[in-house]
Amino acid sequence: MKRSGKTFLSLLLALAMLLSACGGTPTESTAAPTEAPTEAPTEAPAETQGAYTDGTYTGTGTGMGGDVKVSVTVEGGKITAVEVTEHKETAGISDPAIEQIPTAIVEANSPEVEAVSGATVTSNAIMEAVTNALNGVVEEETELEITIDPDVIVVGAGMAGLVASVRAAELGAKVLVLEQNFRVGGSANTAGGSISGAGYNIQIEAGIEDSPEAFYDDFVNMGGGEENLNPEIALYHAEHSGEAINWLQDYVGVEFSDTVDSGGYLTMNTDRVTYTAGGASSGGGSYFVEALSNKLNEAIEAGNAQLCLDTMVTDIVLDDNGDVVGVKLDDMEINAPSTIIATGGYGYSEKWLKEYNFTNITSNDPSTAIGSGLDFAHTAGAAFDNMDYCSCYGGSVPVSGFQASLRCTINYNGAIWVNIDGDRVFNEPAATSMDKRTVWRTAEENTIYVVLAESMLSDDEPLFTGMMSNSEGFTNEEKIAELIEQGYMFKADTIEELGEMIGAENLAATVEQYNTDCAAGEDSVFGRTDNLVPFEEGPYYAVLTYPYLMMTAGGPRINDQAQMVREDGTAIGGAYLAGELIGSANIAGHNTIGGIGHGICATWGRRAAEMACENAGIAVE
Ligand SMILES: Cc1cc2nc3c(=O)[nH]c(=O)nc-3n(C[C@H](O)[C@H](O)[C@H](O)COP(=O)(O)OP(=O)(O)OC[C@H]3O[C@@H](n4cnc5c(N)ncnc54)[C@H](O)[C@@H]3O)c2cc1C
Repeated sequence: MKRSGKTFLSLLLALAMLLSACGGTPTESTAAPTEAPTEAPTEAPAETQGAYTDGTYTGTGTGMGGDVKVSVTVEGGKITAVEVTEHKETAGISDPAIEQIPTAIVEANSPEVEAVSGATVTSNAIMEAVTNALNGVVEEETELEITIDPDVIVVGAGMAGLVASVRAAELGAKVLVLEQNFRVGGSANTAGGSISGAGYNIQIEAGIEDSPEAFYDDFVNMGGGEENLNPEIALYHAEHSGEAINWLQDYVGVEFSDTVDSGGYLTMNTDRVTYTAGGASSGGGSYFVEALSNKLNEAIEAGNAQLCLDTMVTDIVLDDNGDVVGVKLDDMEINAPSTIIATGGYGYSEKWLKEYNFTNITSNDPSTAIGSGLDFAHTAGAAFDNMDYCSCYGGSVPVSGFQASLRCTINYNGAIWVNIDGDRVFNEPAATSMDKRTVWRTAEENTIYVVLAESMLSDDEPLFTGMMSNSEGFTNEEKIAELIEQGYMFKADTIEELGEMIGAENLAATVEQYNTDCAAGEDSVFGRTDNLVPFEEGPYYAVLTYPYLMMTAGGPRINDQAQMVREDGTAIGGAYLAGELIGSANIAGHNTIGGIGHGICATWGRRAAEMACENAGIAVE
């Protein structure tokens, strides 16, 4: 496809509603749906001698998940009610702010109150929304002009889309980035900072010998054999993952720690996982986003890239040959020689997850992981691989429905795991990270009860924590009472009664056998030797848990040029895929190895950009 074949569009997209004060850099919010105050004041309800003008006003602030909208009532010159009317904040984490900040604002008669610790972003968003409501900030509907004649369109500005955009701009392409969210970064905003590769500088400096062949062998051996992966792309990944990390460090300026280890999951033969300076726990991934955003901003300022936030791509456009020639934004079409699809996995699509993977599941993915790239791949006629495989974690208590927000400490002192029939399912303390995933993934109805006795509970060890790796634990007494009340935890004086409550007919026999084994010092069912603590006097408890996930593993089939491939082996031209969309299992097989998510974003973001540039007639060095 030649550059001259593309259509230059100077589209005025009436899709984005820009806040009048917005700046438009990758890390800022630039858009919010217009919503006029419900009782539009003729002038701003400015505070006059401590009083506000009576009325009901609406306002919008920017939280972790996007817009936070409030309704503010002023009566007798005072704020009498604040209600959060709309938000997409993470349940559990944001709840205290949503409950406490409106009341605090009413009590203080001011939008400026102290943020709730642990929910600062949501707290600030509510305060910002109330301030905007009281100041009569009216959101204007403005038109978004596409100012660039794109060689490459990038759909999605998560880590993969950012890598692809920055790399394509580095190679000299004009890049149009379309992101449906109010900010860039996708999952990496909340992810840990690990990344894996073979033969990168930090690894070499740490004195670790590695090779692409050894990396590939680990994929095969740890992933259940070559039949579980796509050897063509697994080999490419093994060969180029190291240079992608070097590029992140040297060209993009990502700050890394000097740690190199085997990662927190399955242990690879060679240490090849490193971490951003933010480390392994939640928040480390934002270091990738920050550095990539800065680099993308440089390209934007140089006139080589344009980023459109709050811009949802609704489909891809195919020509008569079935090649991709652009994208659709509702009924508008934008064309370019090359399109990179980097829309992420489907970890927040309950529909896809239930269709392919789980009966019961909760998601710790951000609400941006909607799986639209899978729809695009279907439109293009791509084949799919590994859609029936999806890794997960065990022990989510489904208090917020599909949105994961609460974890049970599944290896609690002496506790056992039983399935819906009441049978034990594993040697609990001996379960590796991968075993736990398998237990919850393969359990009937994806349901496991964590069963324990009152005597096992300790005030020092929380039975429940939030979802983030650095979340603090909850106080046992309060949380247990709350969960019993809500029907996620069950309490009974006898095991028989507990079994009846959860409908598990074998529970009494299971616990009796377990107690006999504890007395004998040997677990006759699974050989458990650690923490063989008997179920002494009641009461007894059962916690309902489901699996939860942070990324999906299947995806459209691609070749080593990042092009989608049909069942008959032919490649689909004009489009290049990158990131979680292509499926970690297609590269690394049926396992979870540390840093594979970000490794795929870096390696395939670069590969997609290089192939997209070449297709657009831009030389790739
Ligand atoms: C809590 C958590 C912890 C993690 N920790 C690690 C870790 O330590 N190490 C690791 O390697 N991996 C980790 N992962 C996985 C890793 O972060 C992700 O696999 C990776 O960030 C995915 O990047 P992506 O760009 O492919 O997709 P995403 O991050 O999902 O980005 C896709 C982007 O596309 C946008 N988009 C989607 N559809 C459209 C559309 N139709 N139009 C326009 N835009 C669209 C989305 O809004 C989003 O911004 C973690 C994930 C989570 C959730």
